[in-house]
Amino acid sequence: MVTKLAENENQGAPPHRSGFVAIVGRPNVGKSTLLNQFLGEKIAIVTPKPQTTRNRITGIRTTPNSQVVFLDTPGIHRTRSLMNRRMVEIALKTLKEVEGILWLLDAREGIRAEDEDIARILEESKVKALILLNKMDLISKGKLLPLMERCAALLPGREIIPISALKGENVALVLELAEKFLPEGPRYYPEGDLTDQTERFVASEIIREKIFLLTREEIPYGTAVTIDEFVEREEKNLIVIKATIHVDRESHKPILIGKKGAMLKEIGIRAREELESLLGCKLFLELFVKVQKGWTQDPNTLTELGL
Ligand code: GDP
Ligand code: MG
Repeated sequence: MVTKLAENENQGAPPHRSGFVAIVGRPNVGKSTLLNQFLGEKIAIVTPKPQTTRNRITGIRTTPNSQVVFLDTPGIHRTRSLMNRRMVEIALKTLKEVEGILWLLDAREGIRAEDEDIARILEESKVKALILLNKMDLISKGKLLPLMERCAALLPGREIIPISALKGENVALVLELAEKFLPEGPRYYPEGDLTDQTERFVASEIIREKIFLLTREEIPYGTAVTIDEFVEREEKNLIVIKATIHVDRESHKPILIGKKGAMLKEIGIRAREELESLLGCKLFLELFVKVQKGWTQDPNTLTELGL
């Protein structure tokens, strides 16, 4: 009798689901913003510039009945440079490893050539997908409907949802639908984990974000950040980080350093403040600038950087 009751109870509870869902789309449509909104924390760096995200960033969302591992990917775009090609490859490889896809478009910009490429890839891959028209806060309702119709023609049979990743509009609905993509399965990560990135990687990303926010034109695209030292001084509740900013060209070095070191100082202050609040301790951050000519085209350096 007792066993039977337990069985009945089990049948009443929804099954636990788990798996991977990728967020794909053109550069700058709001993929990283959406990931951060899903988790209620800043996991992925966000800037107004395209091609900020270079690697695949994971964000883990755990609820009593599910664990979704979201993968934020570099934007899919047409490109010739080796670094950008590798970034696109990371995004395309991801499609093959996931249970579902969230395809993000910028509702204000509409459908671009790259979006048509993505639609074709998704059609061929047959993976379950939602079409999300992001930045709905920026356009009128009247413009949304024709865009939804064009998306339906481009990739038929998928649900199309207007959202605002920034304001959180319709984000709960997307979470609910994304969960339904997943098969029954166990929790892969402990409940409190929001990401599988190391603190070192997060530190390098935050420094890179400040460079993207503070420098202009081609400068941010030619920089990479490596962490040379990451030492925890527990007795002082202090972390010491030494990092190198690699630049692609000799002429970029003085720009990154700035007048009397002002630029490097500003990058350092902003990165330190954010890292201190993230890591919950005091930080000593030292930044160096090193010229590494042509690193964005060098296969070995790219591999070292995980690209
Ligand atoms: P990604 O390149 O696709 O990862 O795009 P990001 O998440 O880095 O966002 C690119 C820019 O779009 C940033 O300036 C964001 O603040 C902005 N953005 C993202 N989502 C929205 C949205 O829903 N509404 C508005 N108005 N801006 C957004
Ligand atoms: Mg991004």
